[in-house]
Amino acid sequence: MVYEGLLDRYGALLNLPAHTGQVSLLEGNTPLIPLPRLAQELGGGFELYVKFEGLNPTGSFKDRGMTAAISEAAGRGVETVICASTGNTAASAAAYAARAGLRAVVLIPEGKVAAGKLAGAVAYGAQVIQVQGSFDDALALVIEISNRTPIALVNSLNPYRLEGQKTAAFEICDTLQAAPDWLCLPVGNAGNITAYWMGFRQYDALKQTGLPKVLGVQAEGAAPLVLGRPVEKPETVATAIRIGRPARGEQALQAAEESGGRIIAVSDSAILSMQRRLAAEGVWVEPASATGLAGLAAEIQRKRLYGRDQRVVAICTGHGLKDPDIISQTMRAPLRVHASLAALEEVLGSITNT
Ligand SMILES: *Cc1c(COP(=O)(O)O)cnc(C)c1O
Repeated sequence: MVYEGLLDRYGALLNLPAHTGQVSLLEGNTPLIPLPRLAQELGGGFELYVKFEGLNPTGSFKDRGMTAAISEAAGRGVETVICASTGNTAASAAAYAARAGLRAVVLIPEGKVAAGKLAGAVAYGAQVIQVQGSFDDALALVIEISNRTPIALVNSLNPYRLEGQKTAAFEICDTLQAAPDWLCLPVGNAGNITAYWMGFRQYDALKQTGLPKVLGVQAEGAAPLVLGRPVEKPETVATAIRIGRPARGEQALQAAEESGGRIIAVSDSAILSMQRRLAAEGVWVEPASATGLAGLAAEIQRKRLYGRDQRVVAICTGHGLKDPDIISQTMRAPLRVHASLAALEEVLGSITNT
């Protein structure tokens, strides 16, 4: 069977209006990569997989929701779409709008967007507007604009985004033939955790695939759902989850509670160290994407979660290429040698002897 994207594969299970078109870049269908070495290091005795969402067309899971939101908007005759974004939504909206022949306007918080994301939005031809404020300020503005004009909002407040994002839960169940025991993922604006929970519940009702416990993980400097109040000036290296007022915060808390899981926070250093650990196994993700696994490691260490005899799936939401600076900032300069065999042999000797 030829793969034609998520709406083609799972459209019958998504609650989308009849006028919805089919705007696809063949998103989804991302791999579930087993990480037995990391599982062993975390105590062993359980199966660990990462769903590498960085392998979507624009490098993040946002493409799952965007194929649905842009397909709906295009089918309704919308000409311009708008979103606020910490970066990945902007790149995704820009790409799918380009695919559909629509105009995209993206608002980003000033100075806090990773280089690969901004470049993506520009490359796909979006009009990029920097707001002198936070993501939360930018979101409030685009909500207001979409209420006053025919411009369509494609943030995850748009219900079709969540319909598309549910498909990641379907894929996990299809691959494992059941839901995992635990699902770990980063939480920013909280659309994704909400969509996963919707998806797992729907599949369970349909196919008795069971339900996972959900561990949502925020960064300590941007943890409104752990603190129980908004954070005015969220701060974290994980820019994709640098959000102080999650639009779907209530639903995220409900998903965690209903599932028997919870929402916790981890430090930036734990996030960066898990990013390195994943890369050491060949999976390079952006910092936010290592947050779910950093939370898993912390919970196992505190003995608040026993991996034993369980299957754990961690969602790696975006690709490492999105945020090259995080790596190059702390990188040692490459070794330099004369273009001679003797010089190379000398350097190689010092490397292989250590
Ligand atoms: C958007 C995003 C998140 C957070 O998802 P929410 O739905 O806002 O909770 C996490 N990681 C990456 C890479 C993202 O792009």
